Amino acid sequence: MSLNSVALAYLVAAVLFILALKGLSSPVSARRGNLFGMVGMAIAVLTTLTLTSNWIYISLAIVLGGAAGAIVAKRIEMTSMPELVAAMHSLVGLAAVLIAMSAYYNPYAYGIVKYLGAELHLSNRIELFIGTFIGAITFTGSIVAFGKLSGRMGSKPLRFTGQHWVNLALGIVMIGFGIAFSMSPSWTPFLIMTAIALVLGVLLIMPIGGADMPVVVSMLNSYSGWAAAGIGFTLNNNMLIIAGSLVGSSGAILSYIMCKAMNRAFLNVILGGFGGGEGAVAEDSGVQKTYRSGSAEDAAFMMGNADSVIIVPGYGLAVARAQHAINEMSKMLTEKGIKVRYAIHPVAGRMPGHMNVLLAEAEVPYDQVVEMDEINNEFADTDVVLVIGANDVVNPAAKTDPNSPIYGMPILEAHKARTILVVKRSMAAGYAGLDNDLFYLDKTMMVFGDAKKVVEDVIKALGH
Ligand code: NDP
Repeated sequence: MSLNSVALAYLVAAVLFILALKGLSSPVSARRGNLFGMVGMAIAVLTTLTLTSNWIYISLAIVLGGAAGAIVAKRIEMTSMPELVAAMHSLVGLAAVLIAMSAYYNPYAYGIVKYLGAELHLSNRIELFIGTFIGAITFTGSIVAFGKLSGRMGSKPLRFTGQHWVNLALGIVMIGFGIAFSMSPSWTPFLIMTAIALVLGVLLIMPIGGADMPVVVSMLNSYSGWAAAGIGFTLNNNMLIIAGSLVGSSGAILSYIMCKAMNRAFLNVILGGFGGGEGAVAEDSGVQKTYRSGSAEDAAFMMGNADSVIIVPGYGLAVARAQHAINEMSKMLTEKGIKVRYAIHPVAGRMPGHMNVLLAEAEVPYDQVVEMDEINNEFADTDVVLVIGANDVVNPAAKTDPNSPIYGMPILEAHKARTILVVKRSMAAGYAGLDNDLFYLDKTMMVFGDAKKVVEDVIKALGH
């Protein structure tokens, strides 16, 4: 392919990537967005293959890697998606480090220098240094994130005194060796710098608690993009620069949105100051609080006699895989002339968009799925709210109790509805480890049981 055709093909792929991101911003267009992304990537990979004579080895690697990826992605449960993403990012980080090493080892083969044995330019060495250290931090940091999310490592924050100072000192030494490498190309400072970055990746992620881990995964996603973009400059590959920047900036924006929705300061997450995760303990005031409980049949009766029902799905709905059952139930209610909507909190579940994906999988009509900001004004005029497998995202303490760790986090205002039904298996706390006053209101009825079983029983009762 001529250089102009390559540039044109990369441009088309870049436009497709941008359309993919645009498509992924709404469940209605997400499938189309994914398709754009896939076509864009196919064009980018095929075009790149025309630039090399080694296409047999590369194709073999693509087939092997693609097959492994497809098998893993097929097997993975939706609730384990964040750990899969973390594992994938570690590979992106490792790839950035390995490419930088081989580009440094033989810059001529990559077309970075014009003659065999010619030295790398200063700017190339700076790019390699940046790409390598970000890649190395992403590699080990993502492995720790994977370990914590998959339960192979304790999710509790691991800290020691003076940790921030140690990290700072290591960071400064690493930059020092990076500068030394940039000034006079030699393997020693390059390898020391890479080794320190690998250690830093572990030290930076270890002190972060399980609850903040998805933000960290999204942040590492962003890092992996910047690492790729850095290497793209060295290799003079516009596609890598554009794709890397898109991943880098969209990951950074997503991390920011998640922090905002969880009322966390971005810097605090990164520095590991907060996020007790499973370590957080429900505060026990010592006062015995009472709650009402009822059966699935009672819940069916209340919903069947309402004019409007809002369903608040949460992590428990995903665990129980109750999305198809809940769709069937809402169809029955809609057929009875009842207005049914789903209220989506931005961090309901364990990853961004978790609930949207689940409901889309069950083919819930998109116009019934409403985001938090839009639906919050409507709870007060709603007869029944069905909170199913959700907890923290409807905890009124976020609004009323300045001492609560989630104070300030925006919530779905389910407590304003006329009647509240809460489906969960016990009175246990949710992810933040906090008790929830919503469960003890006079107008709340707890329905204990597995979400899917309860909804199936509601469906039976509605059918009678
Ligand atoms: P929560 O974890 O607060 O609550 C889920 C509830 O579901 C639990 O209280 C549990 O109660 C119940 N449950 C579990 N399994 C079942 C089942 N099989 N059937 C019925 N109920 C079940 O989830 P939310 O979705 O309300 O909130 C999400 C939390 O995750 C927030 O704290 C958020 O900050 C955090 N988070 C979310 C991220 C995201 O990107 N979405 C990222 C990071 C954190 P019981 O055990 O009694 O059944």
